[in-house]
Amino acid sequence: MIDREELIAIALRSGASHAGILETPAIEFHEDFRKACEKNFCRKYDTNWMGPPAVGPIAELRNRMLGFTEGMLFQSTHPVSSNFDMKGIEAAARAHDEVFRKLVRAVRDRYPAEAILPLGAGCCTVCGRCAYLDGEPCRHPDLAASSVEAYGMNVIALQKRAGFPYYFGKTTVCFVGLILFGSVPDAPAASGSETGSSSR
Ligand code: SF4
Repeated sequence: MIDREELIAIALRSGASHAGILETPAIEFHEDFRKACEKNFCRKYDTNWMGPPAVGPIAELRNRMLGFTEGMLFQSTHPVSSNFDMKGIEAAARAHDEVFRKLVRAVRDRYPAEAILPLGAGCCTVCGRCAYLDGEPCRHPDLAASSVEAYGMNVIALQKRAGFPYYFGKTTVCFVGLILFGSVPDAPAASGSETGSSSR
């Protein structure tokens, strides 16, 4: 069984600035976020197995998430020169992804028998070019991870619920991630390539 305090300690050791536990039923889903994805503001819609539409409809993802009792929300913050520092923001996203991957590895190493559902920020970046674009199956289903945005979660609502700061001014950006854990007894087995328990 995963120890909450230890999980938070692992997150902070992995580079998160904040980490806390949320009860899964308190997490809100919004179709509107998926609609924003469909407008392709991020220019990554329909390019990745772990992003929409390939990752599946919100209702299916919500059911998958409800197969877990709790989630650890974490965030990392990074300096940028301004709101318009696109290179800085991209570098910050990569740095957050490293924190996320390190944290998931550490959790899987510490709790190899526990099913978890890790959700990062943005599309899966394990491969330079997602196999989805070539009509091929995911190359690393044990490492692939979807995101809180693809699952239709409101990031600021999550941060508020966890009691995290969520506005840092114009020269700091913040990204979040969520690791779901604690399988619901008798729930349909959580499925999906993000839930494997193998280590990287
Ligand atoms: S592991 Fe590679 S192929 Fe699989 S979803 Fe991620 S980027 Fe795409």
